[in-house]
Amino acid sequence: MAARLIDGKAAAEAVKVEVRSRLARLAEHDLVPGLAIVLVGEHPPSEIYVRKKLEACRKVGLRATLHRFPADVSQPTLHGKIAMLNADPAVHGVLVQLPLPPHLDTKATIDRVDPEKDVDGLHPLNIGRLQTGRPGFIPCTALGIMRLLQHYGVDVRGKNAVVLGRSAIVGRPTSWLLLRAHATVTTCHRHTDDTREHAARADILVSAVGKPHLVTADWVKPGAVVIDVGINRLHDGRVVGDCDFAALSERASMITPVPGGVGPMTVAMLLANCVLAAERAHRLHDGGAA
Ligand code: NAD
Repeated sequence: MAARLIDGKAAAEAVKVEVRSRLARLAEHDLVPGLAIVLVGEHPPSEIYVRKKLEACRKVGLRATLHRFPADVSQPTLHGKIAMLNADPAVHGVLVQLPLPPHLDTKATIDRVDPEKDVDGLHPLNIGRLQTGRPGFIPCTALGIMRLLQHYGVDVRGKNAVVLGRSAIVGRPTSWLLLRAHATVTTCHRHTDDTREHAARADILVSAVGKPHLVTADWVKPGAVVIDVGINRLHDGRVVGDCDFAALSERASMITPVPGGVGPMTVAMLLANCVLAAERAHRLHDGGAA
């Protein structure tokens, strides 16, 4: 039987409807959330991601500003800019687009972002909050994956969830969120022995590796829910995920396409995190978890 397609664009639209109504409430207090994006160098994929983020902000009515630096910017200059953005009351979210050029210290840079403006959820304080179940900011892609599962009524509790990849931005926070939602979680990475065997036990399989055609049909249990986070550009220009979409569509019960699956959710959750940052800064948040 063909798997049900998990439509990330539709689920992202549902998030944006919520974002718009929260923006309307902020507007009653004369507040417009502000997002500042810091971009260093000319990394082509980053240019595309940043453009998408700016465009999404503009469309919903969030104020977004881009702060560009040449690839050879110094660490102190970058820190100085982040300090200015931290201190600016019109800026509620500060996002440093990654990756940074190799001469810059990524961790030291992230550490400089005010944790209350860290809408990417990468500051160590927010990572600790996520791990200990306290409200903070959660990385947008991981948050988007959970929203997709929720939107499609996937019951995570008690299920075997297997996450391929353990990056700070996707794999690890996704594993923590699945664990927090009471799944039994296995996280695989490049050193895992026989990842296929783990994957084949998953009721929910999330692949966040960045290798085209990694996950073939024999990696997937019949009826599993498959979330493909990978974005891989092939030589012919096509963009594909980590999964063999055609073969898995015959085996899984639900599957995300690439593009049009997790990608739109990442941007939508960034908007939601920016609104949350503004609500918290002005004590207008109802207190629910991030
Ligand atoms: P990363 O390179 O930081 O991490 C990749 C992870 O995969 C590592 O933890 C590594 O140990 C693991 N890995 C490598 N080979 C493996 C294997 N054979 N089996 C299991 N694990 C293996 O990448 P990332 O930033 O986490 O991104 C992963 C993919 O997701 C990329 O394709 C990226 O473009 C994509 N991505 C998509 C979105 C989105 O919004 N859709 C957002 C972020 C990243």
